[in-house]
Amino acid sequence: MATVRILPSIPVPPESFEARRNQYYSTRILKEMLGEVPPNTLKLLGVTDKDLCIPILTYVFGEAQVGGTAAVVSLARLRQEHYGLTPDRPLLLERLRKECLHELGHTFGLVHCPSRDCVMYLSNTVVDVDTRGRDFCDGCQTVVGSGTTTERRG
Ligand SMILES: [Zn+2]
Ligand SMILES: [Zn+2]
Repeated sequence: MATVRILPSIPVPPESFEARRNQYYSTRILKEMLGEVPPNTLKLLGVTDKDLCIPILTYVFGEAQVGGTAAVVSLARLRQEHYGLTPDRPLLLERLRKECLHELGHTFGLVHCPSRDCVMYLSNTVVDVDTRGRDFCDGCQTVVGSGTTTERRG
């Protein structure tokens, strides 16, 4: 089993802000995080309130280095308030749990899984986040559990 440590927050790098979109480029945040990886760290997961994007998508719930060390997840579009709805903390935490597992799965070399019951199923919307499974399917779990990831797929 791995030990989980909660590290002090680091500021979001100013160069990740894209004023035209009023969003933050997740790839630049990942780059910043890679400069802050403590020794003996298997994975580094960042959680931010900032609304994240990448150049080709209008938003992302998170981004990870496939087979790498770092992943980042955004709370912004997991909150019911973002959709004009009443805040729902248990739902927010459930969504966050799924997103964290999903992005960490990518760092273990997983790509998107065709099974809707698997947390590695692609989610384009928060409805997808809610309807997909909350754990890895057997096939994906095997990859995460094996620990041999960096050479897997491209
Ligand atoms: Zn994904
Ligand atoms: Zn799967």
